[in-house]
Amino acid sequence: MSGGKTIFKRIIDREVPADIVYEDDQCLAFRDINPQAPTHILVIPKKEIPSLAEVQQEDEALLGHLLVVANQLAGRCQLAEGYRVVINCGRHGGQSVDHLHLHLLGGRPMHWPPG
Ligand code: 5GP
Repeated sequence: MSGGKTIFKRIIDREVPADIVYEDDQCLAFRDINPQAPTHILVIPKKEIPSLAEVQQEDEALLGHLLVVANQLAGRCQLAEGYRVVINCGRHGGQSVDHLHLHLLGGRPMHWPPG
């Protein structure tokens, strides 16, 4: 740990390098260090929200923005065959970094149900 920051906050603050593919005033998107598909991008808000379980009503537009950005990145990554967006939430949801993030996964067929 560094000053109590999550690894994603450290990426936002440019203290840890990442393969950043998109940034605006509200969010950052970068390639997952351990990709689970040919395309595996994380879209994160710059606002420090620990998980989906802790979003507030005031975050409604921000959450919509993250989805719009994920779809734009899917277009840029030529995921015309489809893709999957995942938000892991909490221990049972498989969340390992306590900073809200969307996984954008594509480039291969996905299975259902998830493990
Ligand atoms: P979660 O399990 O919380 O839903 O997803 C966290 C994701 O962050 C994992 O897929 C993991 O590979 C990714 N990750 C963890 N640390 C880093 C890092 O330092 N850099 C990048 N690019 N991805 C990371």
